[in-house]
Amino acid sequence: MNLAGKVALVTGGSRGIGKAIVLALAGDGAKVVINYQQNEAAAEQALAEVKGLGAEGMLYRADITVLQECEGMIKAAIDHFGRIDILVNNAGVRRDNLLALLKEEDWDVVVDTNMKGVFNCCKAVLRPLLKQKSGGRIINIASVAGLTGNSGQANYAAAKAGVIAFSKSLAKEIGKRGITVNALAPGFIETDMTDDLPESLKAEAKNRIALGTFGTPDDVAEAVLFLAAGANYITGTVISIDGGLSL
Ligand code: NAP
Repeated sequence: MNLAGKVALVTGGSRGIGKAIVLALAGDGAKVVINYQQNEAAAEQALAEVKGLGAEGMLYRADITVLQECEGMIKAAIDHFGRIDILVNNAGVRRDNLLALLKEEDWDVVVDTNMKGVFNCCKAVLRPLLKQKSGGRIINIASVAGLTGNSGQANYAAAKAGVIAFSKSLAKEIGKRGITVNALAPGFIETDMTDDLPESLKAEAKNRIALGTFGTPDDVAEAVLFLAAGANYITGTVISIDGGLSL
């Protein structure tokens, strides 16, 4: 129980990778704030599973593209649990298309959610985290696409590359305050986000993955737990969790 007494907020913690992260942190003793945007039933289910582990949790509906909503969420977390130690920026969306066909609104929603959302939550948590003077952890879920680029994902890859550069910059800014900032770059992970990909694309992707299979949300959660519960001398880095896809 390395995280006993710590409070963690996970954006998009109601489903997929975020839910696995919530359960891993709660399983290690953290109190968890589960952010979601729309799917209340999934969020209630995640909270029930947290309670099933004997851990404490709360739900908070907020659209991470809106700074004021992120500020309200951090305030609610601190009002409820008295502090905040770990922020996992996980919420994300994809709207894939070749650039010639990509609509402006699909660029905007992906960049606003996947990149500006990270800015909004970090901006909102920064002052309380610094004021606590007890260090902290910021973990940003980027993507292999942010490292290598991907045809049909110019919007998504650009946003995720932005998250990686943002993480490195913030790591330099606040490292001396004992707060680490790292990014994770998952490859293909089995969630709702990848469920609707054409079978032909999935088969072609598996051919390019050294380990030959898609990863699971738990594979990503394991790396988050590693960074959240220890990893004292690791900051500004990007850990690939892609089964060797980016090799
Ligand atoms: P997912 O299953 O589609 O879940 C997305 C989560 O984000 C949901 O909890 C959703 O909440 C929340 N969300 C979306 N927009 C939001 C907003 N504006 N404000 C607050 N919450 C919002 O996605 P996933 O596959 O677990 O992906 C999680 C993260 O990993 C994303 O950043 C994604 O880009 C990244 N990633 C995924 C893969 C993959 O293969 N799956 C690979 C690389 C990186 P609601 O349900 O309430 O809307």
